[in-house]
Amino acid sequence: MSAYRSPFEQLRAKFDESSPECPACGYHDSDGSWRVTTTGSRVTYQFVCPTCDAIKTREMRL
Ligand SMILES: [Zn+2]
Repeated sequence: MSAYRSPFEQLRAKFDESSPECPACGYHDSDGSWRVTTTGSRVTYQFVCPTCDAIKTREMRL
């Protein structure tokens, strides 16, 4: 089994470990997960707060 992991997989693992937190109301979704979309060389992580509908977005470049 190979130990190789792509940069994307590493990023993903990093985000999967940390659960999203709402910037507006501070709601911490311990069971939540980021919604991941990939556009070209960019990965966008999005989290919609179930309490106040605030959207937190993080963008990463590969
Ligand atoms: Zn919120």
